[in-house]
Amino acid sequence: MSALIIDGKAVAREVREGVARSVAELRRPPGLATVLVGEDPASAIYVANKRKLCTAAGIRDLHRQVPADIAQGELEALVEELNGDEDVDGILVQLPLPDHLEARAVVDRIDPAKDVDGLTTFNAGLLAQGRQGLQPCTPAGVMLLLEQAGIDLAGKHAVVIGRSDLVGRPMAQLLTQANATVTVCHSRTKDLVAETSRADVLIAAAGVPRLIGADHVQPGATVIDVGIHRTDTGMCGDVDFDEVREVAGALTPVPGGVGPMTIALLLRNTVQAASRREEMSP
Ligand code: NAD
Repeated sequence: MSALIIDGKAVAREVREGVARSVAELRRPPGLATVLVGEDPASAIYVANKRKLCTAAGIRDLHRQVPADIAQGELEALVEELNGDEDVDGILVQLPLPDHLEARAVVDRIDPAKDVDGLTTFNAGLLAQGRQGLQPCTPAGVMLLLEQAGIDLAGKHAVVIGRSDLVGRPMAQLLTQANATVTVCHSRTKDLVAETSRADVLIAAAGVPRLIGADHVQPGATVIDVGIHRTDTGMCGDVDFDEVREVAGALTPVPGGVGPMTIALLLRNTVQAASRREEMSP
């Protein structure tokens, strides 16, 4: 039997429509400052998409482009400037940064109240403690996809492949908060198939093209593919889609699965940040 294909594009569109409605209820349109360092083509495309959809939802585009050879201190000073700018509700520094820059120090300069990527140590700490904060967009988007697909996580065995700060680690924390029993696999996991084939819900975020085949998947499992890879034959994920769709109960495609959710959650985080700031101001 072929898996239900989870339509991330449709869910993301609904989220963006909700964002546009929330924007209209605010006293003033929220502002999102994306910061792009240099001209990396993949990063430039990601940022262009974020800016386009942010404008379409009524969020002000306060983009900053800086040269690839910017000094660490200058980039941190720019973040500080944006922290102090009343028009800016959300700050997103597009990663990865050029090799001479230390990303962690730059990200941690961002005011946690404006950290719409949810990547500062402060917001990561709130998430680790199960407290309210701005959450990383990709794992938060996966949670919404699971919810919209009607997947009840309580008591289920969820397996996350990957333990990065961006995806795997926060993903495992969100699944735990949703009462799943969570296993985290990584590059040193000894027998990946043994772990993944016990999963009711499998989240693949290893960054390895088509790592997950039919053998990795328990029949009927829900499989969420976070990976994005551009190959000679087009885009693919960490999951071998054609193989796994014959085994899984539900599966996200690449493209059109998690990718659109990441941007939609960025917009939602921006509105959340703006409305919190509005509540705080007289
Ligand atoms: P990363 O390289 O920082 O982390 C990869 C993780 O996978 C590591 O923890 C590593 O231990 C683990 N891993 C690597 N090879 C493995 C293997 N063979 N078996 C088990 N574990 C393995 O990557 P990331 O930033 O977490 O991103 C992961 C993937 O998700 C990438 O393909 C990235 O492009 C994609 N991504 C997609 C979106 C989206 O919007 N769809 C957003 C962020 C990242």
